Amino acid sequence: MPTTTGATPTHCPYCALQCGMNLSPTPDGSVGVSERVDFPVNRGALCGKGATAPALLAPAGRLTGPLARDDAGALVPATWEEALDRVAARLARTRADHGPDAVGVFGGGGLTNEKAYALGKFARVALGSSQIDYNGRFCMSSAAAAGVRAFGLDRGLPFPLEDVSGTGCVVLVGANPAETMPPALRYFDGLRENGGTLIVVDPRRTRTARRADLHLAPRPGTDLALALGMLHLVVAEGRVDEEYVRRRTSGWEEARAAAMAHWPEYVERVTGVPAPRLREAVRLFCAPPAAMVLTARGPEQQAKGTDTVSAWINLCLATGRAGRPLSGYGCLTGQGNGQGGREHGQKADQLPGYRSLTDPGDRRHVAAVWGVDPRSLPGPGRSAYELLDALGTDVRSLLVMGSNPVVSAPRAAHVEERLRSVDFLAVCDVVLSETAAMADVVLPVTQWAEETGTTTSLEGRVLLRRRAVAPPPGVRGDLEVLHGLAARLGGGRGLEEKFPTDPEEVFEELRRASAGGPADYSGISYRRLAEEGGVFWPCPADVDGEGRARPAEGERAAGEGGATGGEWARGVAATTGGPPGKGGPRATHPGTPRLFLERFATDDGRARFAPVSHRPIAEEPDDTYPVLLTTGRVVSQYQSGAQTRRIDALNAAAPGPFVEVHPRLAERLGAAEGDSLTVVSRRGRVVAPARVTPGIRPDTVFMPFHWPGEGRVNTVTNPALDPTSGMPEFKVCAVRVEVTERREATGRNG
Ligand code: SF4
Repeated sequence: MPTTTGATPTHCPYCALQCGMNLSPTPDGSVGVSERVDFPVNRGALCGKGATAPALLAPAGRLTGPLARDDAGALVPATWEEALDRVAARLARTRADHGPDAVGVFGGGGLTNEKAYALGKFARVALGSSQIDYNGRFCMSSAAAAGVRAFGLDRGLPFPLEDVSGTGCVVLVGANPAETMPPALRYFDGLRENGGTLIVVDPRRTRTARRADLHLAPRPGTDLALALGMLHLVVAEGRVDEEYVRRRTSGWEEARAAAMAHWPEYVERVTGVPAPRLREAVRLFCAPPAAMVLTARGPEQQAKGTDTVSAWINLCLATGRAGRPLSGYGCLTGQGNGQGGREHGQKADQLPGYRSLTDPGDRRHVAAVWGVDPRSLPGPGRSAYELLDALGTDVRSLLVMGSNPVVSAPRAAHVEERLRSVDFLAVCDVVLSETAAMADVVLPVTQWAEETGTTTSLEGRVLLRRRAVAPPPGVRGDLEVLHGLAARLGGGRGLEEKFPTDPEEVFEELRRASAGGPADYSGISYRRLAEEGGVFWPCPADVDGEGRARPAEGERAAGEGGATGGEWARGVAATTGGPPGKGGPRATHPGTPRLFLERFATDDGRARFAPVSHRPIAEEPDDTYPVLLTTGRVVSQYQSGAQTRRIDALNAAAPGPFVEVHPRLAERLGAAEGDSLTVVSRRGRVVAPARVTPGIRPDTVFMPFHWPGEGRVNTVTNPALDPTSGMPEFKVCAVRVEVTERREATGRNG
């Protein structure tokens, strides 16, 4: 729906902030970006990635026709018919020869809700395979698991970002929004302008940490101990909100006992954070009437990520800072649709609406919407890394949609070798990513501004991205790809009818599939999204005059596997000022900006403490690998860089990887700024220039993960998995650092 100026209001293709922007054609035939101030989250502000995103819409540098590998092994142009025939035939052959679970599907956190939903349904209905997961597993799955464990529900932020400016203190753990989502900084700046305090927990003195009132720099992989040390002090200093703990939580005694083993001096030895700084953090956190803890990949991407996040949630619960206005725990989701992508079925254990693949009622509900026998639905599959690790053995063919695991997966050289070993690999992507370049068939698909669809932001706000421009000829949508493959796999039985190509039709089905589930979208429509600019889930289809959700068709009965969407809606309507009028006509549910104000989404409505304790990282340093490596992002590149590395302005700002090293460590190594360093772990070696800075711990080096080749840091990262979430330990592993070449020899000028 273009505006009066001809611009189309939409959202950025990249991160979970989902900044609003207007797109319009320019006289030279390209697409221009302009401010969209009506979208409240970013109010027109964009980072460099969003501002330059239209550059990728031009046909140059992207895929504009299918490719298929010829007898000589080269990728050569193919027609769509040839390409789809070949993909369907090879997937069908694998299924016939080795069973349905030998066919894997790997999705992405950038896919729209409609695509994520259709992909999950495709795996389970068209292929009959349990083997589907997605790269969002690498992003925030530990926070999701901890959120479900504590609150009975996972929504990145249970409140809008605007609440950050109104609270009294924010502890930002392992998050660097100054680089990952700069427009969000206004909320943290607002916090401090309003007299609140910001505490940043990060081994590096990042751009975000430099804005903090207090920066704690723990040794990577020890923030679980840090959180427990703070909780210990909360107890010791008599700062527990006893009344809140009694009324709204369960499991406190066990969690308290676990925390009391983490006295400040012990925590200082484990984390390197001086005990007085820990006391100062507790004082700042407990002083105001409201406070928040926000985590990101730092605490989450660990082999104990779920427990680490649980420890921070415990701190919130003990101090009465969850489910209250301007207080709570939240996760700053990373990928553009990382939230929606895990709600609607491309996660190995989930059905749409955040339903569970192991819950009989959930299976019945979704099977009814899909028109299949619930017994035909497979069970949960492998988590993302386990799926990639099984390639070539248990999983013989793979369909990848919107993901580039060759760069983004841990132990990436091994993953690359696994991808090379499969019988057949098909990749749907916009560009010839490193993963697409390995495929037997590459299917070029539409992107972002060329298609309509919904995403769900880190706030749980469902948004409509509108088609603003026509795609290049020769490119098809992912939904068309799935439709075409279903037609061929169905062998004339009309299977493709279950895979419509119109995104709104898919969304209408998604609404029904989610109705009554934890992530209930049934009250959200394209019309509402266009008119209201976004709606927070849960949003049941309709509510009666007392704010009760009317049960949707097939909704599971109360008590069958936890709180139902209906139960949710009662709390939701009560806390959002739901429609007035006893027994009146059906009313539109307003959506749910703030969760948990009355009750948590657990069976008894109470939040659950988790009795967690510190444990070491999966790979401690030793004489051979004496240094810790941590990884992260830079402001001008995004994730695996498949898109942003193709944009000149972003490459000029961030041309390649580097190794951040403290001056003391540099001196020990005999390294200077710009020298070529080799970082070696048990899994391989990478090479990148040194960037010497005092803003990192002397026992730790940092590398960004956006690049392939010799600087691909994921070659050396550790795939040790969190036992609950399946999240790999990207954030810390043991390495050795060597000087490969002096700057003078490399010709680099620093
Ligand atoms: Fe896009 Fe995120 Fe940048 Fe906003 S902050 S413009 S959503 S990449």
